[in-house]
Amino acid sequence: MTETLTEIERNGLKINLTTLTEIETEFQAELEELEIRLNDMAREAMGDTPINLASPDDRSILLYSRRVVDKKEWSRVFNLGHEMRGATMKPKQRVRMKKTVFASTVRRMTEVVRKTVGSRCAGCIGFGRVRPVNKNGEPSKALRICKPCNGAGVIYTPTREVAGFKVVPRDPYDTAAAGFKTDKTTLEDRAIELSGDAKEFATAYIRYNALRTYLNTFVEGMKTMLMRMVSSIQSLCSVLRRRVVFRAAILTFRICHVEIPSLYGRLSRVAFRVGLYLRGITRN
Ligand SMILES: [Zn+2]
Repeated sequence: MTETLTEIERNGLKINLTTLTEIETEFQAELEELEIRLNDMAREAMGDTPINLASPDDRSILLYSRRVVDKKEWSRVFNLGHEMRGATMKPKQRVRMKKTVFASTVRRMTEVVRKTVGSRCAGCIGFGRVRPVNKNGEPSKALRICKPCNGAGVIYTPTREVAGFKVVPRDPYDTAAAGFKTDKTTLEDRAIELSGDAKEFATAYIRYNALRTYLNTFVEGMKTMLMRMVSSIQSLCSVLRRRVVFRAAILTFRICHVEIPSLYGRLSRVAFRVGLYLRGITRN
């Protein structure tokens, strides 16, 4: 113990974050690549209608090619949402429906989404804002959102072609407030039976989501932990009122066999070895 402290005193403290940063960079690069691919596929499937991958509504439309007409009624019919049961919030009991009833209910309550062609709005010449004329004939100072294009500056005219990946919902458990479920579990379940673009999109999206989670939790978590360790060693140093040095304390984290679904649905085992070394460099 004394020996270690002496060594700390002599050498200072440095924690090597290189390995973590390498993993983070790799993940980040793959994430960005996937995001481009997913957006390209969405554009191809939707025509000019913009799709935001972060929006459950947009994802539902993109995957299932249907838009719920009245969401309130949709939630009522499928008993969506949460309720208090006992002392805890729980998801409401999903309704049971025969396959044929479910299919006809979906058809009745949703409309098929078509690919669109966007063109510049004539009302605002693409600006999305208009300057109304006052009663005295002068143009008003304030700009107003253009109604025909809802401020987008673009009018999306539907074509006859069905948009999206035409995934067919199986039963009431596939319904959600946004329309239909597009979460990890549902997509993983469906990816096996899907084919073509739908399959490719679903599997890429699963991977994209997994990477985002890793970047947000795993890498960030490791860094936070390291920082905490550093600060606790630093406070120990200040308690000792010495220029303290920490050397040759080697910490190896082994995070083995973290399962990540690979791009094409196959589960690949990725073994990570994160070696964190406490290495000596003088700290003042
Ligand atoms: Zn307009």
